[in-house]
Amino acid sequence: MRIVEPWIKVEKFDGKKIMKRIERACRTCYRSEGKITDDSYKKLLTNCINRGHESVLEHEKITVRIYDDVGSYKDLTRHRFASFSVESTRYCSYDKDKYGNEIAFMDPVYIEDKETYEIWKKTMQEIENGYIKMKELGASTDMVREILPHSTAAEYTMTANIREWKHILELRTTNHVHPSIRQVLIPLLKLFQEEMPEIFGDVEYDKEFNPKFYAKLTIEDEV
Ligand SMILES: Cc1cc2nc3c(=O)[nH]c(=O)nc-3n(C[C@H](O)[C@H](O)[C@H](O)COP(=O)(O)OP(=O)(O)OC[C@H]3O[C@@H](n4cnc5c(N)ncnc54)[C@H](O)[C@@H]3O)c2cc1C
Repeated sequence: MRIVEPWIKVEKFDGKKIMKRIERACRTCYRSEGKITDDSYKKLLTNCINRGHESVLEHEKITVRIYDDVGSYKDLTRHRFASFSVESTRYCSYDKDKYGNEIAFMDPVYIEDKETYEIWKKTMQEIENGYIKMKELGASTDMVREILPHSTAAEYTMTANIREWKHILELRTTNHVHPSIRQVLIPLLKLFQEEMPEIFGDVEYDKEFNPKFYAKLTIEDEV
């Protein structure tokens, strides 16, 4: 059994370019393309968002790859305007060499009580023992996946347009949301706030959530 940490890889993007492309699309409405200057997008986007004219944000998208637990994608895949490709527990057989012949479980670092954490760890070990034993007896992945818990680690690729990202980050970075999701999405929100303040600057997130739990975020040419 392997206990792992979450991470998030973000496809390289240029926030200013994204906002300028949205501005260009939006100005079609008023045929005011002639008013575009180096920073005219700032006022335009702020006005659009304040007035609820948010469909213009749908012209641009960003893709990320997340390594987190099954519970996190169970929640995130409820968002109907995002697209997902999720590691399959039907096709990935964790007893194989490719996976190190073991199951990776996402570390629930937010279980701070030592005794409670030890019960979680012991249970994960028992689950792995059962999974490997069932495979040895000839069980298919369709059978063994039935015993996999929410803590099972999984990779997923997630793409959403800017409007949907704003919606998802507004909903999924508060203290009402499972910590495993806050671990990956608060760092993403903070990056978007730096890169696209006119769009994401007003999104409130759980500032009490301990930054030591934040997932490692990297920016990649390809995710
Ligand atoms: C803190 C929290 C707790 C939750 N708890 C539960 C729970 O206990 N059980 C549970 O089942 N779910 C739960 N959810 C999931 C939640 O109900 C939504 O299914 C999920 O967050 C997707 O959000 P959404 O519908 O806004 O968004 P998206 O699918 O991302 O859609 C974006 C927006 O498009 C519009 N839209 C999309 N589809 C329609 C439609 N058919 N009709 C009209 N407008 C539409 C809405 O304005 C919507 O907000 C929870 C979510 C959160 C954040």
